[in-house]
Amino acid sequence: LKRILPLLLAALAALSACGPALDDSATANTVAANITPADVVPALAIVPEGGAGLAEIAGGPVTINAQEGLVFPILEVRDPWYGVVDTCGREAWVDQSSVTTVSRSTPGVPGPGFDLSSAVIVVDAGHGGRDLGAKGASGVWESHVNLEIATLLRERLDNPHSVDWETGRVRPGDDYPAVGAVWMTRAPDGPLNGDVELALSYRVGMGNQVGADAIVSVHNNSAPGVVSSSPGTDVFYAVGAPGSDRLASLIHEEMMRGLGELGSEFGAARVTGARTRVEPDGTDFYGLLRRGEMPTVIVEGLYISEPAEERILSSRVGQQAYADAVYRGLIRFLTSEETGTAIHPPEVFDGDVGTVTYQACVVPTQP
Ligand SMILES: [Zn+2]
Repeated sequence: LKRILPLLLAALAALSACGPALDDSATANTVAANITPADVVPALAIVPEGGAGLAEIAGGPVTINAQEGLVFPILEVRDPWYGVVDTCGREAWVDQSSVTTVSRSTPGVPGPGFDLSSAVIVVDAGHGGRDLGAKGASGVWESHVNLEIATLLRERLDNPHSVDWETGRVRPGDDYPAVGAVWMTRAPDGPLNGDVELALSYRVGMGNQVGADAIVSVHNNSAPGVVSSSPGTDVFYAVGAPGSDRLASLIHEEMMRGLGELGSEFGAARVTGARTRVEPDGTDFYGLLRRGEMPTVIVEGLYISEPAEERILSSRVGQQAYADAVYRGLIRFLTSEETGTAIHPPEVFDGDVGTVTYQACVVPTQP
């Protein structure tokens, strides 16, 4: 079941070159990702073989035949339609009979005794489609690397694994069972092989609607021309979603351990620990985090603009180390009450990172 749907799609980039993440202005006022009535049971609509028609208004004419394999967060039920958020972050309506659905889960309470086999994790590979994210020193695109890492992370979560906590090694084993479900916002076995533009409201809407235990957005950073030493890992947490800070702290700790062994030489003076940026009013700066209702984090693993870190990110060993680190962080978050190295208070951020708008975003259509 969990594999039938991994999918995804596109729009905005959370943190492009340099991290700062923007917002989807085109969609911000169109669909509120958190208008979920508590009594809505169907959480995700899955487009079956042959596609499914989307209309702009309930009962209106179909304007798009959405591609099979797409998954849409369901925001409203108005028989016989579902109101969903499409991949571009727009409100759309689909006939209930034309899709299958997944019900909303009730998140568990992290700590000793947590049932991993019922956990639901959303793995978001940052960027996609025309939104390529940051560019590496030799031309490797963040979007593509993020997808590789996210897919490796899915494999870890989707199968039973053991962890050697001394060395950090993750291998097939029976210490930790497969989680109940992994949803990828975009995946190599999904529409357009995962190279799809996705709106932030779509990405986080998937996690909010399905009742995810955690939403992890995989990114890499960029700061052309800057040179330093030690891994430049940042993990940002959602101020408004309880548990996000602890999740970020644990993932950060595991990232520093896992990537620090790979010879990275960037970012010596960087803040060590989980952090986040907020607007002057205290709300999350990053659009993805601002919308997160479940524990939500953005992992900025390495600086792809740094040649040494780009090489790590381009290597299978490096991608696996990144995926393993996030996996360990998730396992610790779910099965313990540890808080990790440090959780830094929010930093007011007034940098001008602009707002990216994909006016021409298109939902993948059935070929
Ligand atoms: Zn990014």
